[in-house]
Amino acid sequence: GSAVSLEDVRKTYQLAEAVHALDGVTLEVPRGSYTAIMGPSGSGKSTLMNLVGCLDTPTEGRVIVNGEDVTELDSRERTDLRGTQVGFVFQTFNLMPRLSALENVALPQLFQGASRRQRRERARRLLERVGLADREDHLPNELSGGQRQRVALARALVNDPAIVLADEPSGNLDTDTEADVLDLFSEFHEGGTTMVVVTHERHVAERAERIVHLLDGRIERIEQLESGAGSD
Ligand code: ADP
Ligand code: ADP
Repeated sequence: GSAVSLEDVRKTYQLAEAVHALDGVTLEVPRGSYTAIMGPSGSGKSTLMNLVGCLDTPTEGRVIVNGEDVTELDSRERTDLRGTQVGFVFQTFNLMPRLSALENVALPQLFQGASRRQRRERARRLLERVGLADREDHLPNELSGGQRQRVALARALVNDPAIVLADEPSGNLDTDTEADVLDLFSEFHEGGTTMVVVTHERHVAERAERIVHLLDGRIERIEQLESGAGSD
């Protein structure tokens, strides 16, 4: 089955004239796959991310996340689906500045019924997997950019979501740090996590198994890659 599927999705903004941000997009994101989304500015990448991430609903068509038809949910149900089934990674990390690394990773579990102790244990395991076990009490501003993005990745994964959505995840990182963070993405993908990465950077996109090229709100083509290049 698919982690996410889009069926003939349209998103239209009614300005002076109608703007078709997405104009008939059909896309399956299989469980365990690694997809990159590329396209020029204005091609619909953010709109697509917002739909897949249950932040928005389409004007027409269906968006199905982990078997749930997002278009049939009210905003409260969409928030719940997003909180449990989507992990977000942002270019600017978006960590809570007054919370420690461990508390940041533990936070999304408030959607779940786990006890405080269970939440901390789970967060600690994720911090170990991103190589930051020795940084759990650090505040975000006491961490390097690469470390912050690793905390953000741990946070994105803590609820074991159906999909991880990353928007220019290495846009603020230097080359070496970028490689480390992308290696981690590859590692989690190999462990079964479904990854979707939006990027302008060809070398970032080439870590994925396929690149979906958007142009003017449509899928221009889907490029299959040999493997995730550079994943080992
Ligand atoms: P990208 O992320 O690839 O730059 P977007 O999804 O942001 O593309 O935008 C696709 C198109 O939809 C653009 O023409 C943009 O101007 C328009 N658009 C996006 N969001 C809105 C909005 N909230 N209101 C009006 N037009 C929008
Ligand atoms: P990485 O390459 O792993 O992202 P850096 O080489 O940038 O890390 O940082 C090396 C060490 O310096 C890290 O262990 C980090 O904790 C510490 N460090 C980096 N930036 C800061 C900062 N702004 N404040 C405090 N410590 C920092």
